[in-house]
Amino acid sequence: MNITPNSQLTIDANQEDRAQAIRDSLRDAIVDRRLAPGTKLSEAEVGTLFDVSRTVVRYALQMLTFEGLVKTERNRGAFVSNPTPDEAQQVFASRRLIEPGIVSAAAERITAEDIKGFRTHLEEEERYKTERGAAARRAEIKASGDFHLMLARVAGNAILEKFMDELVARSSLVIALYGRTGVSSCGHDDHARVLDALEAGDVSLATELMLHHIGHIEADLDLRVGDGLTLKQALNL
Ligand SMILES: [Zn+2]
Repeated sequence: MNITPNSQLTIDANQEDRAQAIRDSLRDAIVDRRLAPGTKLSEAEVGTLFDVSRTVVRYALQMLTFEGLVKTERNRGAFVSNPTPDEAQQVFASRRLIEPGIVSAAAERITAEDIKGFRTHLEEEERYKTERGAAARRAEIKASGDFHLMLARVAGNAILEKFMDELVARSSLVIALYGRTGVSSCGHDDHARVLDALEAGDVSLATELMLHHIGHIEADLDLRVGDGLTLKQALNL
């Protein structure tokens, strides 16, 4: 089955809800790295597990393909994406373009109530940073991404919010793949500094801090690993 953006999949509203729920479950499993990059996502198996038709599964997989979390190959089916170092860099280049705009839009709309919500969120992030183990690390990656999504929500542009949703999902996958062990995904107290600048109404500082922050996240990745080679290429076979 070849899934392309042109695939004609007609489903009703109820099926669409089911597809959305499957997409959400698979997305969480991919971003949390419970499903490793390269894992095959068999339509039949997913359909059986969620008790839905293949059409609904295809629809869910198509959504994940648009988001870059799944790759589909003609006659081979769907697989969890395995982003190359190049793709990883493109994700962060896109964030550098979009997030300063989100920060300045958020600066215009942020309320005292929002700031309170952000502070509570930052406390949660700090808690995960002090915990050890894979589950805490996954929770930390998720909480770090949520900070950026919260900012996009405050910015009040639904389209930008959707872009950020995709970019954060792709970033989480990249961080899980290329992040150096023990290095926090959004460390350096950057989030707190961005928030302080927003609270002080200093838009240019907040924007500058966000750009530095994105640079920090990228610098914490080890993109030399594997260099995008396949096993066969790496072994010179
Ligand atoms: Zn961050």
